[in-house]
Order: sequence, then structure tokens, then C-alpha cells
Amino acid sequence: MDSRYIALPKGVSETQFDKAIEEFRTILGKGNVLVEAEQLAPYTKIMMPVDESEHTPSAAITPASVEQIQAILAVCTRYKVPVWPISTGRNLGYGSAAPATRGQVVLDLKRMNRIIEVDADLCTALVEPGVTYRQMHDYLKENEIPLWLDPPGSSALAGILGNALDRGVGYTPYGDHFLFQCGMEVVLANGELLRTGMGSIPNSNTWQVFKWGYGPYLDGLFTQSNFGIVTKLGMWLLPQPPAFKPFVVRFNEEGDINKIVETLRPLRIAMVIPNAVVIAGALWEAGAFLKRSDYYEGPGAISDAAVRKIMKQHELGQWNLYAALYGTPEQIDVNWKIVHGAFTAAGGEVLTEEQVGDSPIFSYRRDLMRGDMNLQEFGLYNWRGGGGSIWFSPVSQSRGSETHKQMAMAKGILAEFGLDYVGEFIVGWRDMHHIIDLLYDRSDPEQMKNAYACYDKLLDVFAKEGYGTYRTNTAFMGKVAQAYGSAQQNINQRLKQALDPDGIIAPGKSGIFN
Ligand code: ADP
Repeated sequence: MDSRYIALPKGVSETQFDKAIEEFRTILGKGNVLVEAEQLAPYTKIMMPVDESEHTPSAAITPASVEQIQAILAVCTRYKVPVWPISTGRNLGYGSAAPATRGQVVLDLKRMNRIIEVDADLCTALVEPGVTYRQMHDYLKENEIPLWLDPPGSSALAGILGNALDRGVGYTPYGDHFLFQCGMEVVLANGELLRTGMGSIPNSNTWQVFKWGYGPYLDGLFTQSNFGIVTKLGMWLLPQPPAFKPFVVRFNEEGDINKIVETLRPLRIAMVIPNAVVIAGALWEAGAFLKRSDYYEGPGAISDAAVRKIMKQHELGQWNLYAALYGTPEQIDVNWKIVHGAFTAAGGEVLTEEQVGDSPIFSYRRDLMRGDMNLQEFGLYNWRGGGGSIWFSPVSQSRGSETHKQMAMAKGILAEFGLDYVGEFIVGWRDMHHIIDLLYDRSDPEQMKNAYACYDKLLDVFAKEGYGTYRTNTAFMGKVAQAYGSAQQNINQRLKQALDPDGIIAPGKSGIFN
């Protein structure tokens, strides 16, 4: 269809959309309403194995205040134009900045990027959506505030608020981001402004220190959802410890994941090891630094022999567990004896920073565990090349037999489609987030088809075994929602109808429509 827009919202005529765009221009100024294809390029690029046209936005708008968002939502309601809020739009591998369905207007909140407050005594912060990890990191350094952030793997460019809302994770003791979130400000579809928890009380100074407030706890409703637009987020920051001791434990066999997790679990639950640990598979570690074609050119998934060769050349284990101890030197000494003893008894090779020496692979992990910025994870995109990546993220019990079972299931299914097992287990006290990066070449139609079919099968087979995923990309949100059953889908839809009856906020997010 010929249109002056690269896409139109579903059910909205071009004339109606013209009017909405004119009103957006009045509210925001012309320069903050983008409709040209070149301007929209950053919002159309995806890494998923589907055609870009399925996720093409109709426009992108960049408000600078809560009042402007409220005025925009009134226009959206009038013309039935849906908006897809993003904060920094780096949700790579989960949909990037593009909307869940074609024709939504991207509501890009990057201009709302104030660090409103950092309280160095209480170790709390309040930020707007556009604040990046890099920005907060530099702010803490410049102001000599001895607090640590908890960046995710793809940290420096991504945003604090967007990551917490999508329930992303990091690697310090504050690795579960939503757990360490405290208080939100949300614009609802009808324009009402809600402050959750203690923020509802005029003149309250406890908004960022007490999560629960009074009555039903609401913050969770605004994560992985489309029930509101979050405009401020409170969070807790980690006081810089007097001492920090990062280490790696290497194990050489795939089946060792069983004893690694059995050894780790009690240490994590008792908080002897306090941080969000990573157990990275060999190809995850290698993939961030190496190119697949230098090691394997054959058909199908990379051979076990090629993986062994990489392990040998680059001093990697089949599994590489990264963890750290934090506290005073005396506390660390006591816990180090326990940790070293436990992993040595399990057959692991335990190495400290000094023993590893100058290794970029270790430095990357060490930096993340002390809240430093890093872009190394993007190296995974060069492993195969071609810009294709989707994360498959099932949740596992933190139990050796379970992690082993999941790894074997995933590796088998990936191999059926010629894809490599690039996986890691992260975070958990009692759970493990099992994260697998499906890497493929988007310019190769065969690989695109295989990646789609593989992800689909992974979801089916894992659901049949009782496993759900903690997060997914915008192409598969409906399917993942189905796995969680009809009662959960029904309540989400009823909440959506109550809070956003016209369906103007992010239709399709987490499979929820009005
Ligand atoms: P990041 O760049 O940190 O990875 P994004 O800005 O892409 O994060 O946000 C991740 C996801 O969270 C988005 O795709 C969107 O679904 C949701 N989201 C982001 N910001 C908001 C917001 N302010 N209000 C509601 N949902 C949001």
C-alpha cells in the first residue's frame, strides 16, 4: 500500500494518523516527531529470525517530560494509536527498539535522562528512563560516591530503568535488578500519575527505602507488562566493599555441570558466595572473542572436537564458574577457605586473579562482578556474524541433575537445526537462569528459517517438561504467555482492559492485548 508512512497503526487510516502526528508535533515540536525511513532506521533494526516488516514502527516520538507523555496518551486515546515505550532501546536479542507489532509509534524516553537523586548514606538512587549504566557509573566516579552499580553483560549503552522493567540481571550481589528496585512513578493510560509504595504519601522521604508501601504491592504489575509508562525508578546501590576477590573455577567435562551446581547451591543460599554467579559454557567464553569460521567449517553445529581445541588454546574449561567474595580482608579469608575447599573437593581448578594472569576473558568477568562497564558481550555477534541473535532463557532449579538435563536437551535441539550451544547459567540462589544465545546469519534464509524453527521447538519441548522462560523476544511473546496457561493470560487481559481499555500502551508486550 502506498503511504507517506513506512507503516500505519492497525485499523488507523492515513488521514487519522496525519491528525495524530500533527498533534504530536504541537506537543513535542517538529524535531521530536520522526516519520522518515532514515530517521526510523534505529527503531526498525531487529536481530530476530523474522522479517523486519512485522515489527516496523509507524513513527517515533521523543518526549522530555511527564506532562508531555500525559498529553501524548490523550492523543493516542483519541485516534486509537498505540505507543511502544522504550527507555534506551538496547533490548538486543529480545526485540531491540522495535515494537511487538507493526505500526506502533515508538515512544522513546531517551531525553528523560536525569539522575534525580543519589543518597550516599542510604545507598539509593532515583533515575529517569534514559539514564544509561555508563552515565550513572561516570556520575558516581565524578562525585566520588563509593557505590557500585550492577551492570548487565551488554552494560554501558543500556538503561537502568528499562533493564529492571524487563527483569534483567547483572553479576554483583545485587544481580537480580527488580529485587533491588524500590519505588516507581508511572503514567497510566488515562493520564493519571501513580507513585508506588511510600511515594504515594505527600512529602514522604521513604520512597526509595521501603519497597512494600501499604495494600497490594503494585510495582510488579509494571514489569514485563503494558499497564503503564514508567517515568521514574528507585533502586538500591551496593556500597563499595573494602576488599574484593574475584575467581574462576574451571571444569573440563560437560557433565560436570551436575557437581558444580550441587557444590554452588549451599554456598549461594547461605550467602557465603554473595554475587550473581555465572557458569559459562566454553563457547560463550570463546564466542565473545573468537570467530567460528577459524575453528569449524563443517556442516551442522560445531563439533565437540573443535570446542576442545578452543578450550586448550585459550585455557578455558568446558564450564567456567565466575564468582567473587566481598567484604573486609578478614571476612574474605574465612570465606575463601570454605569456597576453595568445596570446589577443589568437587574436582574444579580454582584460580584467583593473580593465578590467571593477564587474560581478557577473565578481566571481562571481573569487571562485571565489580560493577564496571564493559561491551565485551557484543563480541558474541561476531562468532557467526550476520546480526542474528535471540536469547532462549528457561528457568531451572538450582539442582545439578536439572541443569544437566536442560543443557543436554537444549544442545540436542540446537544441533538438529545446525546451531551451536552457546550457553551459561546465571544468578540464582534457588534458581538458575539458563541463558542460551541462538546465533545465526540474518542474511542467510536457511539459517533464518532454522533459527525460528529451533526457538519454536525449544519452547515446545521445554514447556512439555514443565519449564518456562523468564523473558523472551517480541516475536515469541504470545507463545511464551500461552505456556503459562489460561488463568494467567485471563487475569493479564482483565487488568489490561481495566487499566488501558483502548489498548494504547504496547499491545502485544508479554503476549498481552486488551
Ligand atoms: P535497555 O535499553 O535497557 O535494554 P529498553 O529501553 O529497550 O531497555 O527497555 C526494555 C523493554 O522494557 C522495552 O522493550 C519495553 O518493553 C519496556 N520498557 C522500557 N522502558 C519502559 C517504560 N519507561 N515504561 C514501560 N515499559 C518500558
